[in-house]
Amino acid sequence: MENVYFDNSATTKLDDEVFKIMLPYIKESYGNPSSIYKLGRENRKAVEDARERVAKVLNCDADEIYFTAGGSESDNTAIKGIAKAYKDKGNHIITSKIEHPAVLETCKTLEKEGFEVSYIGVDENGILDLEELKKEIRPTTTLISVMYANNEIGTIQPIEEIGKIAKEHGIVFHTDAVQAVGNVRIDVKAQNIDSLSLSAHKFYGPKGVGALYVNKKVKFNKFVDGGHQERNKRAGTENVSGIVGLRICDRACL
Ligand SMILES: *Cc1c(COP(=O)(O)O)cnc(C)c1O
Repeated sequence: MENVYFDNSATTKLDDEVFKIMLPYIKESYGNPSSIYKLGRENRKAVEDARERVAKVLNCDADEIYFTAGGSESDNTAIKGIAKAYKDKGNHIITSKIEHPAVLETCKTLEKEGFEVSYIGVDENGILDLEELKKEIRPTTTLISVMYANNEIGTIQPIEEIGKIAKEHGIVFHTDAVQAVGNVRIDVKAQNIDSLSLSAHKFYGPKGVGALYVNKKVKFNKFVDGGHQERNKRAGTENVSGIVGLRICDRACL
């Protein structure tokens, strides 16, 4: 009997066209993007073209996009990296009770390191209580992290309003948009989003590759130490085939 797959929020099937685009970078074009000869330069171009494509979809600059190993790493980098970069200003973070474990567990780790975290509830429709959010803001709040769309119940949060509240208080706003990218139109500028996580395997791309957008004005500590890749923010030779396979517009209803 043929299997019928009903779990597209857990992961999606790799698109055939995307697979064809990725193949040369797994096989013949195996250069390191940091190498200066032709094989390296070809790979550098592929990575930078991919960065431009992501930036265009989100309405940000290409140098605000960092490639990562997926949604979990993007969330970890953003939340830990931003919280630690602003530690002199305060140690308080606000998030929601219905975040993905990549956010909730990250917050728990930060609590063990001396950060304070408020977990905001949602109403009967799964929408964040904005009044509770406003009440929780303290002079020491440096970061608000609220998911764009929920991975279990599909609710979409009032991102623009949350971004506005954060902006009014000079607080950095991060959103885990792993379930939103490829399904809804996102404009980080219009929606006051300072930082955003996405993951290729949720929109017909390969597993193990994602991206993190961070507004140029926002500081964040690097998560992976090592070489100078990703403008010294994320060490490690780029996953070129994965990065070229991260194609938001190809199948999405944008
Ligand atoms: C899948 C998912 C993640 C984790 O992404 P990975 O690429 O699997 O690490 C994070 N947040 C949400 C909302 C998700 O659905």
